[in-house]
Amino acid sequence: MVLNLIFLGPPGAGKGTVAQAVMDKYKLVQISTGDLIRAEVAKGSDLGKKLSVIMSAGQLVSDSIVSEMLKSELSKLVSKKGFSGVVFDGFPRTIPQAEMLNGILLSHKQKLTSVIYIESSKEKVVARLSARWTCPKCKKVYNTLTMPPKKSGLCNDDNTALYQRDDDKPETISKRYDVFIEKTHPLIEFYEKKGLLKRYDGNVPPKESIAEAEKIIAKIAK
Ligand code: ADP
Repeated sequence: MVLNLIFLGPPGAGKGTVAQAVMDKYKLVQISTGDLIRAEVAKGSDLGKKLSVIMSAGQLVSDSIVSEMLKSELSKLVSKKGFSGVVFDGFPRTIPQAEMLNGILLSHKQKLTSVIYIESSKEKVVARLSARWTCPKCKKVYNTLTMPPKKSGLCNDDNTALYQRDDDKPETISKRYDVFIEKTHPLIEFYEKKGLLKRYDGNVPPKESIAEAEKIIAKIAK
């Protein structure tokens, strides 16, 4: 069975962490639009420079730019042998993006299996993201409060020095949460109406959150 899943939730709800665990278990591939945007920024292109300004302000990149990025990434992944589904992390973030996703999936003869909404409070996500550190090399994410690396400041897998994302500064985090409520929260009702939404409380430690998501997916995959 092909599983095409969306993880929905405010920044810091644990989408990336849970997506990673689920992907490994079900052999799914992940598309993180945040990672695609950061890769463009790292190239130092003109587009990357513009995207960096938007991201650092906690604002959303335009629907057409992100959808184009997603479209080309998805085409690459779907055509690979043994494709068994994709986890969308950080996309869609607006109603127009959700509508575009429908069309993009259809063009690959795919459809959405489920949307998993990880609920989390503003207080919780601000605390979590302020403690988030990322490996620039393998993109593994740590949290000095809940998932610290074995050696302080260094990645467990490749010993690279961890860094704090520019947009994980307290003022920007608060802005990103507000943008989530304004632009992304309407997607909950959108997918609820389509009968695709499953939700759970993400205000729990990472292990419990992963277990909760796996329980939901096990039911879907039956
Ligand atoms: P988080 O989920 O922690 O906010 P992401 O890595 O998903 O982090 O996104 C970081 C930033 O990249 C967002 O704040 C936004 O500026 C931009 N971004 C990522 N995905 C999208 C999207 N689907 N639409 C618009 N902007 C996006």
